[in-house]
Amino acid sequence: MSADITIIGGGLAGSEAAWQAANAGARVRLFEMRPNVKTPVHQTGNLAELVCSNSLKSNLLTNAAGLLKEEMRRLNSLIVMAGDAASVPAGEALAVDRDLFAGHISHKLAGHPNVKIIREEVGWFDENAVHIIATGPLTSDALAQRIGQLTGQSQLFFYDAVAPTIDASTVDRDKVFTASRYDKGDAAYLNCPFTRDEYEAFYDALLHAELAPLHEHEAKTPYFEGCLPIEVLAARGPKTLAYGPMKPVGLTDPRTGRRPWAVVQLRQENRAATLYSMVGFQTRMKWGDQKRVFRLIPGLENAEFVRYGVIHRNTYIQSPQVLADTLQMRAHPNVFFAGQITGVEGYVESAATGILAGRNAARLVQGKSLLTLPDTTMLGALVAYVAHYDGKDFQPMNSNWGIVPPLPERVRDKKEKARLLAERGLADLARALV
Ligand SMILES: Cc1cc2nc3c(=O)[nH]c(=O)nc-3n(C[C@H](O)[C@H](O)[C@H](O)COP(=O)(O)OP(=O)(O)OC[C@H]3O[C@@H](n4cnc5c(N)ncnc54)[C@H](O)[C@@H]3O)c2cc1C
Repeated sequence: MSADITIIGGGLAGSEAAWQAANAGARVRLFEMRPNVKTPVHQTGNLAELVCSNSLKSNLLTNAAGLLKEEMRRLNSLIVMAGDAASVPAGEALAVDRDLFAGHISHKLAGHPNVKIIREEVGWFDENAVHIIATGPLTSDALAQRIGQLTGQSQLFFYDAVAPTIDASTVDRDKVFTASRYDKGDAAYLNCPFTRDEYEAFYDALLHAELAPLHEHEAKTPYFEGCLPIEVLAARGPKTLAYGPMKPVGLTDPRTGRRPWAVVQLRQENRAATLYSMVGFQTRMKWGDQKRVFRLIPGLENAEFVRYGVIHRNTYIQSPQVLADTLQMRAHPNVFFAGQITGVEGYVESAATGILAGRNAARLVQGKSLLTLPDTTMLGALVAYVAHYDGKDFQPMNSNWGIVPPLPERVRDKKEKARLLAERGLADLARALV
């Protein structure tokens, strides 16, 4: 099959872009380097592998991530379709069995007559042919060099951290309790309750744990504020965790009838409920210390860790300098970018940009005018953010209400405001698509 569009990277964004472009009638070559060339974090050769948490965030329309997913459903998103098909109980969130999820996506793309999947690392590409670059936060070095050359940007990296995963059969069910915060949705989380003394002992151990060393250049690279390692939060003060990832609000231990002093929540990872991840516990502690310190958590005294927390590189371009809100490079209109590499942050956000890049690449080869989305939609707002951010320090961005324009009238009630913003976004999306 000769191709109209070459997509590099078969992750969340590249898979979604391939689906959208192929459904629009374009012939697509999708390059994915795994399993032949590995990344420091992916563990399989699957397309659209979720590298850390199995949560695609809230499904509620009054939540920014919920609106984004609903927009994606209306744009025939493969990623959200797979998420819905592979969901596991997670309260109001859409969490998935990661193998079923990736399997669904791989199956759909492998069976699509307009898609050819090629398992090769790409180190160079011709900017005169239509390409979508969707190689994500762990873009391989050779390609990062080519991207640096084309964008005129040499500094593409910063650092993020990942939370550990636990074998569910090793959690002490006599100590933990099952509940969602404020009893919302299904009771999907396992909660490890702390007394004050247990919290203080845990906090002390955490402060003194040994960290994996950073190279000199890594030590100067900033963390993403929304994904800070637990030890960095702990160093901010003894109460930071109890008000942050270990906050007990909305949780009552049925054995005491009281709210615990602090809580570690474990989120179901797969449909069989054999794996749970530690919510908000991304870390770069040495693995031996992770085992020692996390076993101080009530209920995890004998926990087996199937995956330890790690620190990882994030790669993204300074999009405001180079991208248009079609996700094309302004200087090289045949080259599109999608996913985390554009400076959006998160699985769903990455996949969402793949929708726009995929549709637009197809429209470009078909001689049609390209699509832009109003910034009242969550996807349009994310793209506007990466293409037009005019501050000094361009940092990756999640979906959130702060990036959409305010309502013309002041609405005090937060939920009502979110409902109206979502209603406006969906109506504007429908208008943009006619
Ligand atoms: C360790 C880690 C943990 C994260 N945790 C979360 C989380 O819990 N929740 C969340 O919402 N987001 C998380 N993110 C952020 C982000 O949402 C995900 O990384 C998401 O997968 C990004 O989607 P993507 O399509 O841009 O990149 P990816 O899904 O990483 O896809 C890029 C693909 O390109 C391939 N590739 C790279 N270079 C080449 C090349 N030269 N040639 C061919 N193929 C190549 C890679 O193998 C990969 O499959 C995390 C990121 C990392 C790195």
